[in-house]
Amino acid sequence: MQVVERQRNYLRNPLPPGDGICAVCRSTAGSGFELCYQCSQHRSASGGMQADIVAPIAYSIARAQHDHNLIIYKSAQPSAVAMGNLSSLTVLYLAYHWDCFAAALGGAFTHVVTVPSTRGRQGEHPLETIVARRMPLPVLRPVPNSAYGADDRNFYRDRFYLPPGSATGGRVLLLDDTWTTGGRVQSLAFALKAAGAVAVAAVVIGRRVNPDYGPSKPLVDRLRAAPWFDITRCTPVDRPH
Ligand SMILES: [Zn+2]
Ligand SMILES: [Zn+2]
Repeated sequence: MQVVERQRNYLRNPLPPGDGICAVCRSTAGSGFELCYQCSQHRSASGGMQADIVAPIAYSIARAQHDHNLIIYKSAQPSAVAMGNLSSLTVLYLAYHWDCFAAALGGAFTHVVTVPSTRGRQGEHPLETIVARRMPLPVLRPVPNSAYGADDRNFYRDRFYLPPGSATGGRVLLLDDTWTTGGRVQSLAFALKAAGAVAVAAVVIGRRVNPDYGPSKPLVDRLRAAPWFDITRCTPVDRPH
């Protein structure tokens, strides 16, 4: 808890949907639109086979502390402090809201999965080490399609592969560290549903915001004025406990 307490001053809870905030990813939506451009693209390209819940834990503003942690926890010489911060934050967030996700998904989680790296990384993904292995759930192992490069942020129905039926009836906790466009997360959600999952909740540690991108300015201004992070704020249903 202390490890989360000392992150509160630089973390910010997701803003509620509406009023220029995308209902899925909590970034900037155009005036009068429910979704941002990317999320509406994903919705149509996937035919609605997407994550049922997208829960960013906090914003990750480029060059700020949380963003820095999300980069260095998986660098060639990973920072133990960054790993500890992100692990505590995510494990505690999931513990607080475990039952909220179950209520929203129609039952408790049955599997956990992380977005597999397409960078040719050797060994286990760091997110699996710091969070997924601490969950009392079997881990699914999707295989990335090598036709798509690591820097490709688009949605593709065939971006990840799971054996048919391997997630049948499952309610899957999908973890990723950073949401930029959401293309990889939603591609994996699609593959999970194609493999039989009945529900998918995507939990992302940081919803990335680029403060130099003009349309992000109102969002960044709101975050500067927002209260410190409150881990009990319920992202799945967006209200305090
Ligand atoms: Zn969005
Ligand atoms: Zn909750």
